[in-house]
Amino acid sequence: NYIMETKNLSFQYPDGTHALDNICLHLEKGTTTGLLGGNGAGKSTLFLLLNGILKPTQGEVLYNNQPISYTSKGLQQLRQSVGIVFQDPDTQLFSASVYEDVSFGVVNLGISESEARVRIERALKQTGTYELRHKPTHSLSYGQKKRVALAGIIAMEPTVLILDEPTAGLDPQGVKEIMDLIDTLKQNLNMAIIIATHDMDLVPLYCDYLYVLKSGQLHTSGTVSDVFSQP
Ligand code: ADP
Ligand code: ADP
Repeated sequence: NYIMETKNLSFQYPDGTHALDNICLHLEKGTTTGLLGGNGAGKSTLFLLLNGILKPTQGEVLYNNQPISYTSKGLQQLRQSVGIVFQDPDTQLFSASVYEDVSFGVVNLGISESEARVRIERALKQTGTYELRHKPTHSLSYGQKKRVALAGIIAMEPTVLILDEPTAGLDPQGVKEIMDLIDTLKQNLNMAIIIATHDMDLVPLYCDYLYVLKSGQLHTSGTVSDVFSQP
């Protein structure tokens, strides 16, 4: 029983580029899925399809066994359950302070103010950005901004968490902290996590399933132990 699934998913950009071709992928709660592929393989396009920002040209995306509804209400509901943290934090952060940036998504969830505050403070602490909360986001380092962008999404407690290169540009200690936090979210909140990464070393340490995209096609998929034991 999968929380998210794509069925024969294809996407062609208006200029004719075939970005994805016939992709079947599953995401399961309480697991981390690694998505590997070089530049232009289709990783970002896949994420935008999972989040409903793009609409398939063929095939479908299912959430909780239901095809996504591309109405504004359907998409609003989807985006409360499917959180995406983009590779470049500057595309995601635009408030005056770290605290406000982390609050942005949470305050639109319709939860109480006190519950929102608990979640915001927890996310700030989990990502190591609590001490930065009064600072203007634009004054932070790249690594700090990446943590703030992550905090804003995990405070929403999405069921599916999409991470595009979460460790890019972080030092080894930062990589370990972020990946350990992701492991905690998977275990404690039973999230389904999908991570695009160039860092092969992370896969056996943190991923349960692996998909490898090549030029928009699925090259390899399976459990990490199966894929890594193939000759
Ligand atoms: P990745 O995230 O793996 O680097 P992308 O999903 O960004 O891959 O790109 C997949 C393919 O789609 C590439 O050939 C890329 O050039 C193309 N592409 C990405 N965005 C657009 C766009 N807005 N218009 C046209 N082609 C695009
Ligand atoms: P200080 O340490 O300056 O007293 P805190 O960060 O403890 O301030 O803030 C007090 C409370 O106000 C916190 O519990 C937090 O939920 C809330 N808060 C802090 N900064 C903001 C902000 N920019 N916008 C809204 N609420 C905030």
